[in-house]
Amino acid sequence: MLDTNVDVLIIGAGPSGCVAAGYLHKYGIDVKVVEKNKFPRFVIGESLLPRCMHHFEEVDLLDCLKTQDFEIKTGARFLRGHNVAEFDFSKKHTEGYDWTWQMPRADFDKTLTDELVRRGVGIQFEQEVVGVEFETDGTSKTQIKTKEGDDYVINAKFIIDASGHGRVLPRLLSLDKPPELSQHSSIFTHVNDNKRPKGKEGSFITFDVLDKECWLWVIPFSNGKTSIGYVCTNDFLDSFKGSKTERLRSMLKLSDYYYERFKDEDFLFEPWVLQNHSKSVTKLYGKGFALTGNSAEFLDPVFSSGVTFATESGLLSAKLITKKLKGQTVDWESEYSDYIKKGVSVFGSYVREWYSGHLQTIFFEGNTNPEIKRQICAVLAGYVWDDTNPFVKKHNRIIKTLATAIKMGV
Ligand code: FAD
Repeated sequence: MLDTNVDVLIIGAGPSGCVAAGYLHKYGIDVKVVEKNKFPRFVIGESLLPRCMHHFEEVDLLDCLKTQDFEIKTGARFLRGHNVAEFDFSKKHTEGYDWTWQMPRADFDKTLTDELVRRGVGIQFEQEVVGVEFETDGTSKTQIKTKEGDDYVINAKFIIDASGHGRVLPRLLSLDKPPELSQHSSIFTHVNDNKRPKGKEGSFITFDVLDKECWLWVIPFSNGKTSIGYVCTNDFLDSFKGSKTERLRSMLKLSDYYYERFKDEDFLFEPWVLQNHSKSVTKLYGKGFALTGNSAEFLDPVFSSGVTFATESGLLSAKLITKKLKGQTVDWESEYSDYIKKGVSVFGSYVREWYSGHLQTIFFEGNTNPEIKRQICAVLAGYVWDDTNPFVKKHNRIIKTLATAIKMGV
């Protein structure tokens, strides 16, 4: 293939890359997406938050998704033994969407890329970014390898690295840094949910908490299949022996609530094991590039925040690049990095306090007053930039303070 020139090169066609590409194309910027895989491809991250609906809407990608009949998600349920904490997105502090979807990501991401291709966005599937060189002015030469093994170069004014777990620029530019959160691992698969109960019980996304640091997700899809997976410490996962299938089968016995429903179901693929999920970087942007989605940061699966951060950062980076290419000044530190880090820090507090047990105390032991529940619900819906919410503004200490008061019976 011949070398090409573009204004913006996007690495990766997941939700982050798609939202960014949708915005840039809409505003007339010359953009090209390079994607290593052929779609549809499996990727984890199957339950969304209402906040990300605004992002798909802003780049006109909501209508194509609505045609797909994905399972509607209107809240989330957390179980611990006989205790139940249920959150309803229509009862939340911050205004916004009160629903979203839970769905197989292979289908979801294929819907997005099909729509972008239909609009004329250039997406090169089965081509991998293998190297990059930046000039002092921020322009870049990116080496691409095709599936046939040929190499070519894309010259770009700007790169959005939306490569998810591929973490292309963090690897090539040595931007990784140790995450602040404690590490967890996961094991997961899909099943045919033959014993699915009718109604809400069958379709509700549920987190079954077995221990402070071990929980099972159950995410039913509209196609009759269900995603099941455990998140736990590395040591706990390693304590189960045998093949991945045997380990997940043994772990299912831990769930009194779901064991009967899933014990006889075949796994639709050999379970995947992912270790040490949490990822962090020394910086979120540099001259001529921005890191978005999982390529930038990943906290933990517990609050399903991954895709929402991916679309939030994908959209914002595309807006700032558009401004810059149209000759306006952009302060990447305040307009991009500080903004993204603020949301990461709020969710980071919730993840930390989940595993410390304080948030679980609030969910399961407190008779939480409805106003507080609405405020927490807004965070769980992804509205983590709304400072009118005390559970956003004072995220550092408010969870621990409330949990301590509950424990003391105040
Ligand atoms: P991705 O969706 O990973 O897309 C990146 C794309 O880049 C891929 O298609 C990949 O093929 C491509 N790519 C990679 N390297 C290259 C390369 N060198 N060249 C070209 N292309 C490349 N999030 C949620 O919102 N909800 C959940 O319920 C949830 N559950 C999770 C459970 C677990 C166990 C884990 C680990 C994560 C979970 N996540 C969840 C997080 C979610 O998986 C990610 O946050 C989300 O997929 C990030 O989207 P993205 O667009 O940044 O990257």
